Amino acid sequence: MACQASKRNYQRELDKILEGLEGKEKRPSLLLHSCCAPCSSYVLEYLSRYFDITLFYYNPNIYPPSEYGERVAEQKRLIAEMKLARPVHFLEGSYDTEAFYRMAKGHEKDREGGERCFLCYELRLREAAKAAKEGGFDYFTTTLSISPLKNAAKLNEIGLALSEETGIPYLVSDFKKKNGYKRSVELSSEYGLYRQDYCGCVYSMEEAKARKSSGH
Ligand code: SF4
Repeated sequence: MACQASKRNYQRELDKILEGLEGKEKRPSLLLHSCCAPCSSYVLEYLSRYFDITLFYYNPNIYPPSEYGERVAEQKRLIAEMKLARPVHFLEGSYDTEAFYRMAKGHEKDREGGERCFLCYELRLREAAKAAKEGGFDYFTTTLSISPLKNAAKLNEIGLALSEETGIPYLVSDFKKKNGYKRSVELSSEYGLYRQDYCGCVYSMEEAKARKSSGH
């Protein structure tokens, strides 16, 4: 199944969905899970033409708490300052770090991109799916596929499985396509966004430190 999923062209599938929304009188609502302001910048620019977006900030993986606070503040600032087709609402989930450490137990030594990350995607997407269902949203998705370090096939596989569970359509994506990642770097510079140099959790922070000290 993972092999089949990796062959799917999620960007083309998203294009088809968006084409179907062109010219519709009522815009569908989208709960967009975001990991940070830089990653959300391109996705907001791209999708706000089609959806009424509520940005959902649920990232209990982030360490330390001061980093979490900084990322939330940048996220709110971007939404307030960015020139978008429509205003974007903001919804913050709980900073339940215990939920993250429970999930990561036994996977502390996994390398970034391994099993711990797949569980981390699921933790965050599950909460997004739940919030989308509670809020009566038409779609839910996440910005995470914009990162070249994230596994887009796995993210879509998890999102689609949660969609089956909750009945809320998951908007498939591979936002790094169509120069999405490059555009997010440009927008980050335009808005002077704080760009962190590690994914978010304490393990990725340590990995980044080790990379730096070894000169890689
Ligand atoms: S490296 Fe990133 S995706 Fe992986 S567990 Fe840590 S925060 Fe989550």
